[in-house]
Amino acid sequence: MRRLICLAGVLLVVSGTHAQLKSPEAFLGYKVGTHYTPHYRIVQYFQHLAKEAPQQLKLEQYGETNEGRPLLLATIASTQNMSNIEAIRTNNLRLANSTRDKAAPNENAPAIVWLSYNVHGNETSSSEAAMLTAYELVNPSNSRSQQWLQNTVVLIDPCLNPDGRDRYVNWYTTVIGQTINPEPIAREHREPWPGGRSNHYNFDLNRDWAWQTQKESQHRLKVYNTWLPQVHVDFHEQGVNEPYYFAPAAEPFHEVITPWQREFQTMIGKNHARYFDKEGWLYFTKERFDLFYPSYGDTYPTYHGAIGMTYEQGGIRAGLGIINEDGDTLTLVDRVQHHFTTGISTVEITSQHAARVVKEFRNYFTNVLAKPAGEFKSWVIKNDGTDRVSRLTSLLDKNLVDWSYASSASYSGLNYFTGKSESFKAEPGDIVINLNQPKGNFVKVLFERNSAITDSATYDITAWSMPYVYGLKAYGVTNFITATTKTTPAFKDIAVDPNAYAYAIKWDGLNSAKFLAAALKKGLKVRFTQQPFQSGNQNFEKGSLLVTKAANSGKDILKEVQQIAAETQSQLYSIPSGFVDKGYDFGSSNVRIINAPKVALLAGENISSLGFGELWHFFDTQLKYPVTVMSANDFIREGMNTYDVLILADGSYDFFNKKELNDDLKAWVRRGGKIIALENAVAQMARADWGIKMKDGEDKKSEGKSDYSVLRKFENRERDWLKNSMPGSIFRLELDNTHPLGFGYPDYYYSLKQDGNLYEFFKEDGWNVGVIKRDNYVSGFAGSDIRPKLNDALLIGAQDMGRGQVIYFADNPIFRSFWENGKLLLCNALFLTGQ
Ligand SMILES: [Zn+2]
Repeated sequence: MRRLICLAGVLLVVSGTHAQLKSPEAFLGYKVGTHYTPHYRIVQYFQHLAKEAPQQLKLEQYGETNEGRPLLLATIASTQNMSNIEAIRTNNLRLANSTRDKAAPNENAPAIVWLSYNVHGNETSSSEAAMLTAYELVNPSNSRSQQWLQNTVVLIDPCLNPDGRDRYVNWYTTVIGQTINPEPIAREHREPWPGGRSNHYNFDLNRDWAWQTQKESQHRLKVYNTWLPQVHVDFHEQGVNEPYYFAPAAEPFHEVITPWQREFQTMIGKNHARYFDKEGWLYFTKERFDLFYPSYGDTYPTYHGAIGMTYEQGGIRAGLGIINEDGDTLTLVDRVQHHFTTGISTVEITSQHAARVVKEFRNYFTNVLAKPAGEFKSWVIKNDGTDRVSRLTSLLDKNLVDWSYASSASYSGLNYFTGKSESFKAEPGDIVINLNQPKGNFVKVLFERNSAITDSATYDITAWSMPYVYGLKAYGVTNFITATTKTTPAFKDIAVDPNAYAYAIKWDGLNSAKFLAAALKKGLKVRFTQQPFQSGNQNFEKGSLLVTKAANSGKDILKEVQQIAAETQSQLYSIPSGFVDKGYDFGSSNVRIINAPKVALLAGENISSLGFGELWHFFDTQLKYPVTVMSANDFIREGMNTYDVLILADGSYDFFNKKELNDDLKAWVRRGGKIIALENAVAQMARADWGIKMKDGEDKKSEGKSDYSVLRKFENRERDWLKNSMPGSIFRLELDNTHPLGFGYPDYYYSLKQDGNLYEFFKEDGWNVGVIKRDNYVSGFAGSDIRPKLNDALLIGAQDMGRGQVIYFADNPIFRSFWENGKLLLCNALFLTGQ
């Protein structure tokens, strides 16, 4: 029986009796690519496929975005494989030695291909292509795809970043007329700040696979690790004038990448080329997109045994159509066709070689266990008693990395902080990570001190070694460590005295700052000590927080501090008397009260959306302290009257270029305001005469020599550029931890440096809190021209101006939110300086 529904003049025919699988065009009512499909319609289409072809397509919602949109994974298989899909999945984990039971896997198993679409929200052709691809795979009249599914299971994530995608699509829809305008200058091709590339908090989800600081990544990696596909494709778009890019990838390849992983990339690329050649479509391979930084959608799978690839279609901000440099109009229809073609071709070539693909996957994991690569076979991370340790183990847990606690024993190994081999004692509570585990290659990549780089022209940072990221002392050991335990060592419980004179929290990690933030929000008066003190047998370092009965009268402070300590996982200490055994008593002027800052964070055009997003996300979801996001104009017009802290993310700020506004801002600081400036904001303040001065690095090597280096060869132009490039490497800073900006740290800090900007030491007018001296390079790529200049300079500074301060961070202390050890520096700047 057929029912007829008349809807706004469109006649829809709905079958009531038998399954009616519709193509995207039939379902949506337009040819894919002629209109944008909002995310909820993409969801509905996949629901339609799951409903009409349940024996071939299973749909699960694996999570939800910050804005409440569903994250979906479609499993596509032959009817027979689908009836057995759980066993196939478990067997695949067995092939990767990643099940608990250690049962022998069946090596005659289907290959698994995972296609990830639209991780960058404004690279919109890919989610449209996902619908076409899914349809053709389950289309019963497509005999080729039905054949492929006999030995290949395909997983499709139609949209990794629905919030970003809809941000773009919704905006685009509001600015087009009845006819689209293909002129590149038209408003519809000029996407406004912050753009749809990033997620809700303006994080680049294609930099977040390993760190999983974002909800989308956390949910996705959970399900990804229950599958571990053999082939993974991340679909992207690039500038509108670029031809299509597919595998094989460019150098540098990380050294753990196997010959098979390289070989199959080439085979896949050649299969795509057949289709592209036939159509006359332009493409390139082996350039630009490298396999190194471990947190991408191609490298993360690669370090987990897959052939991990990025495909790039030209088209960012092209909308439905744009004129490119060749004079052609590039349409969304074309872009979708290209991504559809490579997606299908990937499944085809994998199916053609499924047995080999599975066998090589099995070999990958056998080799990882039997002969793990690299100098070190295990690492011991010293437990310093701070939350840096639990943050590291939480990262390991999120990635299902196997780790354990050390037993008391002596070893020798390379000390990451000194760079020297020495003997050391492991103690209960220290963390041990052995390399002979399924995640071995991934662990090696995360922990190695210096990643071997086959070519230095990389796309991203080149250093991320975990001990520096977390600021944890670590040793690389050349053999496996067997004396370990999974049981958490019993840490001594510290009793809380209900009649204490005060309660103290040590200032040693982000949790301490979270405690402070929560206490200030509750209106508690909190003090901090500017000098160490001792009470009974407990020592407290500079920066320790005190909640005293004095100044908190009328409050049940025991109940409140206990509650906050539990919420923020902070250790509470009871202090019996204000008369301390060593150090200053609590009534001393060396024990300062912390005034709750009222914080403004600027957002808008010319500010790095990623830099802004990191700060916003940090305040909103980690520190949980109020921050008001506003425009620069609104801050100047109104904000100055009510806010006392101004945070300037990496970016360019007009008010520094206008003398009158620049002077107003200085006057605001002198009245008691505080500016916390990051990266390029610091460089701008140097130019706007704030007292900090840019340093011209001098190259000691070239003194007194003829400088033939100016005679550049044209063909070397890219190499020459590299000499001055600094994609992100680690330098050791000497830290003045007697200044409140350095509280909670030893006298050093490892900074991720991403540019060559250096500043002169302050002489009398400021504090040199973080400085780079000679030979402080630690890890990563720094161009041969730039590296010798990186010495004797200021990178973290504090400047008193009248009753206010300016805090300068030349490098980003919370980069991508994974640079854990810098977060407390930011909190020091916010809460402790200038009190
Ligand atoms: Zn992209």
